[in-house]
Order: sequence, then C-alpha cells, then structure tokens
Amino acid sequence: MTKMKVLISGASVAGPALAYFLHRDGHDVTVVERAPELRDSGYAVDFRGAALDVLEEVGILAEVRGHETNMRGTALIDERGVEAGRLPAEAFAGELEVPKRELTQILHRVTADGVEYVFGDSISGLTQHGSGVTVEFERATTREFDLVFGADGAYSKVRQLAFGPHADALRHLGLSGAGFSTANYLGLYRGGMLQQAKDAAIYLFSADRADRLTVSLSFATASPALDRRDRQEQERAVRAAFAGHGWQAPRLLEAMSEADDFYFSSACQVHLDRWSRGRVALVGDAGYCAAPTSGMGTSQALIGAWTLARNLALSGGDHAAAFSAYEAELRPYVAENQAKGQQAAAMFGGGAGPASSHAS
Ligand SMILES: Cc1cc2nc3c(=O)[nH]c(=O)nc-3n(C[C@H](O)[C@H](O)[C@H](O)COP(=O)(O)OP(=O)(O)OC[C@H]3O[C@@H](n4cnc5c(N)ncnc54)[C@H](O)[C@@H]3O)c2cc1C
Repeated sequence: MTKMKVLISGASVAGPALAYFLHRDGHDVTVVERAPELRDSGYAVDFRGAALDVLEEVGILAEVRGHETNMRGTALIDERGVEAGRLPAEAFAGELEVPKRELTQILHRVTADGVEYVFGDSISGLTQHGSGVTVEFERATTREFDLVFGADGAYSKVRQLAFGPHADALRHLGLSGAGFSTANYLGLYRGGMLQQAKDAAIYLFSADRADRLTVSLSFATASPALDRRDRQEQERAVRAAFAGHGWQAPRLLEAMSEADDFYFSSACQVHLDRWSRGRVALVGDAGYCAAPTSGMGTSQALIGAWTLARNLALSGGDHAAAFSAYEAELRPYVAENQAKGQQAAAMFGGGAGPASSHAS
C-alpha cells in the first residue's frame, strides 16, 4: 500500500467517517472544518440498511445506539388541529435515529488521536499538478497533498473550486424551511406532530431533550435564494408563508423570533456527471446530496465514505481507478435515494419536484 497525504474538507459525517477508514489504512489524514468547533445541530438523523454495518465496522454501533431517540411515531394533524392519523416511528426515524450532534461527536472522538483536525479554516484554492494538489487556505499556509476530498456538504467549497459553480450542481426541490427549538409547551414526549397544508407544513417533535420542542416550518419556494439572505428576510418569508395558517402557527411564529438556534435551509439535491476530477473527489452531500426529505443523507454519507475508502485500498494506490469504481458502485443507490427525496419533498409543502438549478 502506498501511504498518501490526504486532505478532507468538512468534519460532520462523511468527513470523519472517511478519515477513520483512510487513517486505518495507513494514510496521513488532515481534516479542515470551517466552523470553529463541531457543530451542534438541533435535528436528529437516521440510519438505514448498510449504514449500520458501517457504524459496526468503525466500532461505534453500540455507542451510537445508546443515543437512540426512541421516537414513538408522528400524529397527523388536520386543518382543524385534530389528530387524523399516525405515521409509525420508522417513517422518520429509520432503523436507528440519534441526535446528529452525538454522531458527529462520536465520529470525531474515535478519529481525533490519529487524524489532524483544523477547525475555523477553509480551503480557498486548489491547484492540481502531476504529483499532487497544492492547497491554499483562508488562514493556514499553503500545503501539498496527494489527494483532496470534499465532504463539505451541499454547498461544498471543494466542489465549487474543482468542479464549477453551485448552479451547475444544485437542484432545488421547491421547498425551504426554518428550524429552531422552543419550550415544549405541548408536552410532546418522544413523538412528533405533522400538519400539512397545500404549500406549507408544520412538523414538531421532542426527542432527547424532553423540555424542548424542535420546530420545522416548511413552505413552497421557487428557488433556494433565501438561504443566502439574512435572518430578518428569512423570517419575513416564513411569516408570509404561514400568514392565516391556524393551529400552532401564530405561537410558533412568535417563538421563532426569540430562538437562538434558528436556521434556514432549502431542500436541494446535488447532481453531477462525475464525482471526481483528477486527484479531487467528493463524498456525502457534497457529491450527491439527496435532500433532507429523503431521510437517507446520513446513511449515504457513511456508505459513501466506506465505499470510497474500500476502493482506494483495493486499487493499490491507483486513485483514478478507485474513484471510478467508487462511483460505479454507489450511483444506483444514490439515484434511489434522490428519487425518494423528490417524492417526499411534496409531503412537506414542496411540490415543484426536480426543479431547475439555480445560481448562487
Ligand atoms: C434540517 C435537516 C434535517 C435533516 N434530517 C435528516 C434525517 O432525518 N435523516 C438523515 O439521514 N439526514 C438528514 N439530514 C441530512 C443530513 O444531515 C446530511 O445528509 C448529512 O449530514 C450529510 O453529511 P455530510 O458530512 O456529507 O455533510 P454535512 O453534514 O452537510 O457536513 C458538511 C460539513 O462541512 C463543513 N463545511 C462547509 N463548508 C466548508 C468549508 N468551506 N471548509 C471546511 N468545512 C466546511 C460544514 O461546517 C459541515 O461540518 C437533515 C439535514 C437537515 C439540514
């Protein structure tokens, strides 16, 4: 095996998982993360199918299971605010669901000893040459690597630098939403409530923090342009979308302004003809995001990292062959997940289906 110096951009799911496998296989691994520390995401993520095998291979399945949200299902609320049916827990929670922050912390902890983590920085330039990649950073000095991996999410900087503008890769699913938490004034316990209207949906749940209610207010949008606007403008758009919407909407809109964990994001997918360019390859949402509505993003990130590392190990140092094999193996799975993401977007108020890409 040829020992390589590799750089991974992004320390969420795909990045640390890939770091684990590449370090285990004897490579010299650096991870750069833009955030100053691990992100404390308020939502839960779920695992399905072979993703559980990947957790097992990393040796963390039992520990991850220890953080299971144990959700009991979701009540479907009609326009009068009355429970009209129920979705089983598996609909949103897959085979195992945990708060995302716990997964990220565990993945970081099991890699922190052998992998160099650099927080609060970002790649700012990539130049490929015959024997490697020269990488410039916003803060750190320029360094040389054999391979560079983008595990930096749907708005991947690596993809932007090595593949082209976001507009070429991102596909909007006609849906945007605000997320935040508030006091659990409904007394929900390990359960959720979903109210869907024609072009807007309210989803509430309480998982590991019994005193908190996690809120998602989603609505139909023509483009994800709001993602790049300031909070005031985003809140204005949410208020407009839920004006006249009954049930919990007025109280939740009030709570939104007070929330200190407010975020706003649009359901986008990433579609690319190829997932690698020379010595640079993409993994997880950066390369093939299926959108949060698919419920498959975390599984895909883990399985993607594992597939990529396995093919690199099998290739005996031929990165081009490894990247082709990785892509050939994973594409059918990704296509299935992206189809799920498109179908489910309609359930949360979207409906535009696989809409056109956008510029940003
Ligand atoms: C509200 C919401 C709910 C979701 N619900 C679910 C769910 O129920 N089930 C599920 O499976 N998935 C869900 N997902 C999707 C899931 O979170 C992602 O698919 C998964 O986290 C992908 O992992 P990733 O590591 O590829 O990318 P990400 O988790 O997006 O991580 C990217 C990392 O890269 C970092 N980064 C970004 N830019 C740079 C840069 N320039 N330099 C360095 N680092 C950078 C980011 O800070 C981040 O840490 C949800 C997502 C959202 C937003």
